[in-house]
Amino acid sequence: SKNKHSATYTIYDDNMHRKELYEAMLLDSINDALNENQFKLVFQPKYDIQCDKPTMSSAEVLIRWDHPEFGEVKPDFFIPLFEQNGLIRQLDRYVWRETAKQMHKWRQTYGVNIPFSVNVSRIDIFDNDLIDYLKRTLSEYHIDPKDLHLEITETAYTENVEQIVKVVKELQDAGFKVEMDDFGKGYSSFNMLTTLPLNALKLDIGFIKGIAENNKEMNLLECILEIAKLLNLTVIAEGVENSKQYLLLKNAGCDAIQGYYFSKPLSTKDFESLLKYSC
Ligand code: C2E
Ligand code: MG
Ligand code: MG
Ligand code: MG
Repeated sequence: SKNKHSATYTIYDDNMHRKELYEAMLLDSINDALNENQFKLVFQPKYDIQCDKPTMSSAEVLIRWDHPEFGEVKPDFFIPLFEQNGLIRQLDRYVWRETAKQMHKWRQTYGVNIPFSVNVSRIDIFDNDLIDYLKRTLSEYHIDPKDLHLEITETAYTENVEQIVKVVKELQDAGFKVEMDDFGKGYSSFNMLTTLPLNALKLDIGFIKGIAENNKEMNLLECILEIAKLLNLTVIAEGVENSKQYLLLKNAGCDAIQGYYFSKPLSTKDFESLLKYSC
């Protein structure tokens, strides 16, 4: 495949911008990447903060691409690329299957029964086989749907209202838990909060950044926590990076947090050490 890449390079070098060239090369290497296991899962714990001491209650599964030529490629860069090129379904299915496999293994080895969450692209919402695929895959590994939480990004809810309402209801009926990811990042639709049967809200990192510096942002956070409580939604804050933010969130009644302050996303091996330690 080295030759294939250098061929692409010679043809496009003069006409394409660096970014476009890089994108083309990445797209070109996806099949190899899937076949050669270049994609890895990492696990970022979510901590319950309304108990005596913070307790790991779940973990989010995030994908990493360790490219043989480019090194680590960021999901923020390649996920949109996969979405635009009809490849995200294959990638997300890979992540979900590997997650189920890993959960099964950890249950057998360490007896841990915490739920895990995976990301669902807004494109996956249009996959007619989405729910059956998830159910089939989980049942292969004897995982109950209630133990797989699905994080669907906020933008999905504003773009295709009818479709998302239908799919989220079907997911709930099938027993999955649904979390609205990146809440507060774009045009948060409060209407969606009452229209959809959601289980949790994940507050976007951009929303958490200012709470320790700015009264207005802290007031807004308190209002959102209030609304969430009325709607019976669990609130998870993402991107918590310091003790100040953590304490503000805890005192304001936020249910759970995720962020570098408690843990970065961990490799399979490092997450295993954490499981061993906490059992
Ligand atoms: P997300 O689902 O909102 O995930 C949170 C992102 O914030 C992750 O970036 C995580 O590593 C990062 N993060 C966690 N704690 C902190 C913190 O304290 N500070 C800062 N600055 N960042 C923190 P990551 O892993 O690079 O993923 C970026 C996005 O790519 C994800 O955002 C998600 O939208 C998407 N993504 C990742 N894996 C998958 C996947 O398997 N499928 C799909 N469809 N999308 C994925
Ligand atoms: Mg997420
Ligand atoms: Mg998120
Ligand atoms: Mg986010």
